[in-house]
Amino acid sequence: MDKSALKEQARAAVLERADAATATAKDILAHPEPGYREARTSRVVADWFRAMGLDFRQHLALTGLRADIVGAHPGPSVAVIGELDSLIVPGHPFADPNTNAAHACGHHAQIGTILAVAHAINRPEVKANLHGRVAIMVLPAEEYIELEYRLNLRREGKIEFLGGKPEYIRLGLFDDVDMAILTHATSEENLKDMASSTTLNGTIAKQAVFLGTSAHAGAAPHRGTNALNAAMLALSAIHALRETFQDNDHVRVHPIITKGGDAVSAVPADVRLETFVRGLGIEAIRDAERKVDRALRAGAMAMGAEVHITTLAGYLPLHSDHGLGEVYAANAEEVVGKDRMAVAPHRSASTDMGDLSHLMPTIQPFAGGFTGVGHGNDFVARDYGKAIVNPAMVTAMTVIDLLSESAVKANELKARYKAPLTKATYLAFMRGVTREEHFSYRDDGKEQVCQES
Ligand SMILES: [Zn+2]
Ligand SMILES: [Zn+2]
Repeated sequence: MDKSALKEQARAAVLERADAATATAKDILAHPEPGYREARTSRVVADWFRAMGLDFRQHLALTGLRADIVGAHPGPSVAVIGELDSLIVPGHPFADPNTNAAHACGHHAQIGTILAVAHAINRPEVKANLHGRVAIMVLPAEEYIELEYRLNLRREGKIEFLGGKPEYIRLGLFDDVDMAILTHATSEENLKDMASSTTLNGTIAKQAVFLGTSAHAGAAPHRGTNALNAAMLALSAIHALRETFQDNDHVRVHPIITKGGDAVSAVPADVRLETFVRGLGIEAIRDAERKVDRALRAGAMAMGAEVHITTLAGYLPLHSDHGLGEVYAANAEEVVGKDRMAVAPHRSASTDMGDLSHLMPTIQPFAGGFTGVGHGNDFVARDYGKAIVNPAMVTAMTVIDLLSESAVKANELKARYKAPLTKATYLAFMRGVTREEHFSYRDDGKEQVCQES
């Protein structure tokens, strides 16, 4: 069967299961679960895989799954990825009343999409023409939230990394994968019905604990060391450093204070903040995080306090593969029409698809059908045809382009791709970034600096 006939079959197959996939997406929307807690969502996906008769593994990185659909002939592996996790957004119309978990990033639509893709690719006439395999990868924990919960999982040895894709990479689940595709929801009008994959910032996360000395805030503040003032000075220093960030690096540093003191009548002795340090290049992020560290220490130093800094590997910048993006975009134009397909500009958000993009050709294009602000309490799907059916058709067609005709296209993209990192150098980088440092500037005549990783 020729390629265009195969694509027609795949589109028809997507339409066959469009209602069921959309119903499942809505069910997941109604039962949101944040990262590494997606037990129910994972079961819903497993039920689908079972009903389709797919071979699959589950409980990967706690809640993830992987089903492989094997073509009739050997060849490369293409990962089609969906994310299981929700955010936590109080006030979202579909928020869980107990946990405030909510699908304010549209990941439930991704699950609907990949289930429809799996159904289309699993058709015997499609598989018979494929040279290679399609790994339907369903991953936990893309949103970088609930750091305390995940650090506890890490202490218990259940995970090493806070994000799902770094965990999958560590566990070897991408070892036999050659390229990766994920379509993400968008509500932005300039991205139209579908938009090409673009660059996204990478990020490193920091927690800082400022420790001072408590004392009566009215009677004896001179006997205290004010940790809140240390934190405020650190924030001012971070702001003062912004003029050194260069436009092309897209650096974003956005701290919050998570604990400001214990009682208004006492000098604050334990004040905590968290921040992300984002940027487009690894070097730019490392440069900015060194400056942030200096600012945190400067606040503690000025007040004669201590600061404990925990630095956590976040996500690498996303560099989309141009060739893979072209294959996807051509199919998107066919499905939605050229005038409804946009070229996405750089975005300063981050995703762990960026990590994959350092190991294999990777794209994360966009599908519309949503309104509201991403991560906001008004981000909801208005048109599941745009949010699920379009990207499912385009992804299935892209897979056919890649793996039919002896997988010429996939092999060409594979040969052209120059990986910036290997799995070993990637893991070494992630482990090198992660560290805990303690700096004491207590006014006892000696400055103490200790470091542990
Ligand atoms: Zn998100
Ligand atoms: Zn997302």
